[in-house]
Amino acid sequence: MKREEVFNFSAGPSVLPREALERAAAEILNYNGSGMSVMEMSHRSAFFQEIFDATKAKLKAALNVPDTHEILFLQGGASTQFSMIPLNLLESAEGIADYAVTGNFARIAMKEAKKYGDIRIAASSEADNFTYIPAQEELQLTPGAKYFYYCANNTIYGTEWSYVPETEAPLVCDMSSDILSRPVDVSKYGIVYAGAQKNMAPAGVTVVIIDKSLAGREMPITPLMLSYKTMIEKDSMYNTPPCWCIYMLGLTLDWLEKQGGVAGMEAIKHEKAKMIYDILDNSRLYKPHARVDSRSEMNITFRTGDADLDAQFAKEAQARGLMNLKGHRSVGGIRASLYNAQPMEGVKALADYMKEFEVKHHV
Ligand SMILES: *Cc1c(COP(=O)(O)O)cnc(C)c1O
Repeated sequence: MKREEVFNFSAGPSVLPREALERAAAEILNYNGSGMSVMEMSHRSAFFQEIFDATKAKLKAALNVPDTHEILFLQGGASTQFSMIPLNLLESAEGIADYAVTGNFARIAMKEAKKYGDIRIAASSEADNFTYIPAQEELQLTPGAKYFYYCANNTIYGTEWSYVPETEAPLVCDMSSDILSRPVDVSKYGIVYAGAQKNMAPAGVTVVIIDKSLAGREMPITPLMLSYKTMIEKDSMYNTPPCWCIYMLGLTLDWLEKQGGVAGMEAIKHEKAKMIYDILDNSRLYKPHARVDSRSEMNITFRTGDADLDAQFAKEAQARGLMNLKGHRSVGGIRASLYNAQPMEGVKALADYMKEFEVKHHV
């Protein structure tokens, strides 16, 4: 298939802005008169330092990151943060943290943290198959907790927090699948982090935005590479950073700015998600997974109630260029990821297909 014939609904790694890919292609053999590809140059070179500083400045501007916070470009995926956070913030094995378990990744993060300290479950929607996000009143907060952990958007189940939890403990938030899709008041957070491959860049860089006052408390057993303090002091360059991914993130941020930044992105995402949820709400075939008040605008999950028909939905979609609509292997069903770089035409094509499929298959 030609790229022009395809709309990619992958949950991650996922679609990137065409403009960013085209610029990368144009510069791939010779970046800015350096005679080298970004992939080939020293991370200590002036050429790369300029890319690094500019990308950081663009991200700082896009999310309005206050000077109290540092932006880090780390490796090991979002999952490495599951260990890095407790190691750096719990202070000792007696350290307490509250976790909201609202999906697969929050549950893994909670289990990992248990290796290092006293981890409490502030709320869990697991008994309801992660169909909803708990309300503020339902959160059981522990006085003296070192931090409160949650995942803003649950990529697999298609639910998202519609509010910022109010806690005394610093907020730590996994925004892997919704960062840059809406404005965020970063000053409310101790740590915001996100793996890049959902909504920012290729897999390989993890953005961490950390309140600098939280650094320097790591447990003595903390591996060198997992110390926020070290990474802040060395400006993410203690070792070789993921240079190419940082460069790609910069190109995505240039594109984002032209779309009206995160506020522009939020308006577009409301429109895109509404198009699909309107169909689900008026359908006699499709059953949405998420409770209405907990719906994600990034990952929309639903099923027909018949696993074979779900599979047929994804297969026939693929034949017409609507790719990667199969739900996560752990939950089945159908999932459409509508990240920033998913064009409106892609969502319209999906909407048309959903209506056609329903007419053909509803009995
Ligand atoms: C994909 C994802 C992760 C895991 O990311 P890796 O980079 O593969 O470790 C964690 N949290 C959320 C919300 C995700 O969507």
